[in-house]
Amino acid sequence: MSARRDLATLDLSTEPLDRLAGVGPRVAAKLEARGLTTLQDLWLHLPLRYEDRTTLLPIRALKAGVAAQVEGRVEAVERGFRYRPVLRVAISDGSGALLVLRFFHFRAAQVAQFALGRRLRAYGTPRAGQQGLEIVHPSYQLLADDEQAALEQALDPVYPVVEGIGPASLRKLIGQSIDRLPDAATLELLPPALLSGLGLPSLREALLTMHRPPVDADVAALGAGVHPAQRRLAMEELLAHHLSLRRQRIALQAHRAPALRGGDGLVKALLASLPFRLTGAQQRVFDEIRRDLARAHPMLRLVQGDVGSGKTVVAALAAMLAVERRKQVALAAPTELLAEQHLTNLRSWLEPLGVRVAWLAGKVTGKARSKVLEDVASGHAQVVVGTHALMQDAVVFNDLALAIVDEQHRFGVHQRLALRDKGAAAGVVPHQLVMTATPIPRTLAMAAYADLDVSAIDELPPGRTPVQTIVISAERRPALVERIRVACRQGRQVYWVCTLIEESEEEGSGPGQARLDATAAQTTFETLSAQLPELRIGLVHGRMKAAKKQAAMRAFKSAEVDLLVATTVIEVGVDVPNASLMIIENAERLGLAQLHQLRGRVGRGATASSCVLMYQAPLSAMARERLETMRHTADGFLIAEKDLELRGPGELLGTRQTGLAAFRVADLARDAGLLPVVHDLADRLLAESPALAERVVQRWIGGAARYAAA
Ligand code: ADP
Ligand code: MG
Repeated sequence: MSARRDLATLDLSTEPLDRLAGVGPRVAAKLEARGLTTLQDLWLHLPLRYEDRTTLLPIRALKAGVAAQVEGRVEAVERGFRYRPVLRVAISDGSGALLVLRFFHFRAAQVAQFALGRRLRAYGTPRAGQQGLEIVHPSYQLLADDEQAALEQALDPVYPVVEGIGPASLRKLIGQSIDRLPDAATLELLPPALLSGLGLPSLREALLTMHRPPVDADVAALGAGVHPAQRRLAMEELLAHHLSLRRQRIALQAHRAPALRGGDGLVKALLASLPFRLTGAQQRVFDEIRRDLARAHPMLRLVQGDVGSGKTVVAALAAMLAVERRKQVALAAPTELLAEQHLTNLRSWLEPLGVRVAWLAGKVTGKARSKVLEDVASGHAQVVVGTHALMQDAVVFNDLALAIVDEQHRFGVHQRLALRDKGAAAGVVPHQLVMTATPIPRTLAMAAYADLDVSAIDELPPGRTPVQTIVISAERRPALVERIRVACRQGRQVYWVCTLIEESEEEGSGPGQARLDATAAQTTFETLSAQLPELRIGLVHGRMKAAKKQAAMRAFKSAEVDLLVATTVIEVGVDVPNASLMIIENAERLGLAQLHQLRGRVGRGATASSCVLMYQAPLSAMARERLETMRHTADGFLIAEKDLELRGPGELLGTRQTGLAAFRVADLARDAGLLPVVHDLADRLLAESPALAERVVQRWIGGAARYAAA
C-alpha cells in the first residue's frame, strides 16, 4: 500500500482542535463549551447568513431591511439621551440622501472619531428611522480622505457565536479547518450507490460552498436555505437524527416489559360505569395501547389528542390493565393543578371499582408524605397520581408496570426516564404512555418520533358546541368590555389573555418577554378592574410565585372569580366548563398552535362559547392568514400543519422534547420533502453497513446523547 493511500485514509475528521494555530487550552475550552472538539465539528459549524461586502451601494438606493455597504462623509453628529445614551451620526455620499448611524453603546473615543467631513465605510441593515433610513450599530471602518479601500472578493460568512471567541478569530479557525478538508471520497460516508440519483453535490463541495461561497453564488437560495449545498447537508443531518432515533428504538426493544394480558374485568367495569361511551377514536387508540401492553416488550407510545378529546379516560383504561395484573401505575402531570384534575377524575372513576389511588405532589409533606411513600413502596397504592414529585429518588415503587406522562413536552426527557427507571429491574422496564394536546403534523412526527409509536385521538366527544371565533381590531375594545359585563351577569366566566407588543423602537430584545407580558397583564388587570367594578377579577402571570398562580387558577375554577386576566401561561389542560368567552389581545403575535391551545380553554361546557382574537392594525399578510385560519378551522391537526407551513417547527415541539431546534442546517418545514429519501437511505444503510450508519450519527450528533436512551 502506498504512502499516499495511507494519508488518504487518515481520519482527519476526529482530529482535536488544539492542533490548529491559535488554539491553546483557553480557546480549546471555549470551543468545547460550545460542543466543538474536532475538525469535523468546525466543518459543521455552518454560517447563519452571509454579508455581501463585495459592492458599494449609493445611500439613495438603500432599502429598509436589505443589508448593504455604503461609503460617505460625516454630515452631523448628535449625542443625546432617550431612556439611555444615544449617538447619531448622519452620513451622505452625494447621492442625494442621508443615512443615520445610530449607536447605543459607545465610548468617548468613538465619538471623537466622527469628525465632520470624516470619510467612512459602513455595513448593516437599514430600517426606517425618524429621519429617513438608519442603521443601528453598523460595522464600520474609517477611511483616510483619499483612501481606496479594496472591496471583499467573496461573501463573508457570519457564524453562530462561540462565547469568548471573537467573530474574526472564529472565522480564521474555521478557515483553517476548511483548508484541511479531505478530498471528496475520503470525506464522504454515504456509499456512492446510495447517493447517485439524488442530484446533490458531494459533502466536500457542499461544505466549501457553505463556508466559502463564490462571488457568483446564488445568495437568494442560500438565504432561503434551499441551495443544493444546504439540501445536501440537511439530508445528511436528517439522516443522522433518524438513524439515532432508530438506534434508540432498537435498544429499547432489547428490554423486556411485563406483558399485561389476561382478564379485563376492571376495564369492563370502568366502561360500564362511565356516563358516556368512548368515541371511535378513543376506542381505536385504547385498542392500540392494549395490544402494545400485551407484549413482553416495552411500549413507548405517544397519544396525541386535541384539547378535550378525552385522553384521560384512555389513560385510565390502560391503567386498569396493569391494576388487573396486580401491578402499579404512575401518572405524572407537569403542574399541581393538572395533576389534581387527574386525581379528581381518577378517584371518581376508580375508587368505586375498589382501585386505590394515591396522590403525591410537592405540597404533600410530613406524615402524609411518609404514608404515601410507604403505600407506593408496599404496592398498596395501585395508581399513583402526581407531579414532578413522583420522579424523586425517595419514591420507590413495589412493581411499576406502566408510567403515564401527560403533556410530556413540559417535562424533560430525563424526567420521563427517571419515572421509567422506577420500574426498571434486571432488564425489565415498564411500559410508557405519553400524552400531548399539542398536535404534531405527520411529517414532524415522522422525524421527531422515529422512536415512538404515535396514536391520534382525532375526534371530539359528541355534544360539544363549536367555539365561535371572532377577529376584531383593538379599536373595538370598549364594545368588548360591555360584552364581558353581559356574559358575567349571566353567570359565565371569561378569560382575558394579554401579550404585549414591544412599544419601544429601540434595538435589542431588552427585558424578557415574560416580564413584558406580566406588565401588560398587570396594566390590563387594573384597567378592567376600574371599568368593571362589579366583577371579581383575578390575575395570573408567569412572574408570580407558583403557589399564587395555582391559587388564582383555583379561584377561577371554583367560580370565585368572574374574569381572569392572564398571560399565555394559563395552563394547558385546565378545565373550566363555565368559561365561555375568551379574549386574546395582540393575537396576531401568537402562533397558530398557541392560539389553538388557548382557545381550547373555552367551549368545554354545553353553552355556546366565543373566542375573540383582537389585533393591532395594520396586520401583516402572514398574521392575517393565521387569524383567518383560526376563524375557519377548529381542527388541531389542520392548524398544526398550517403552523408548520407558516412558522416552521421550532415552536411546535419543545427543544427539550426532541432536540429538533438543535438542527444545524435542516428545517423540517422546508426540508420535509427530503424525509422519504432519508427514511429510504436509513433502511439501506442499516441493512448494508451499520458501521457507516454509526459514523453518520457520530458526525452530526456526536457524543451529545439526544435521549440518552429511549
Ligand atoms: P383532554 O384530552 O383534553 O385531556 P379530558 O380527558 O380532560 O380531555 O376530557 C375532557 C372532558 O371530556 C372530560 O370532562 C371527560 O370526562 C369528557 N369525555 C371524555 N371522553 C368522552 C366521551 N367519549 N364522551 C363524552 N365526554 C367525554
Ligand atoms: Mg388532559
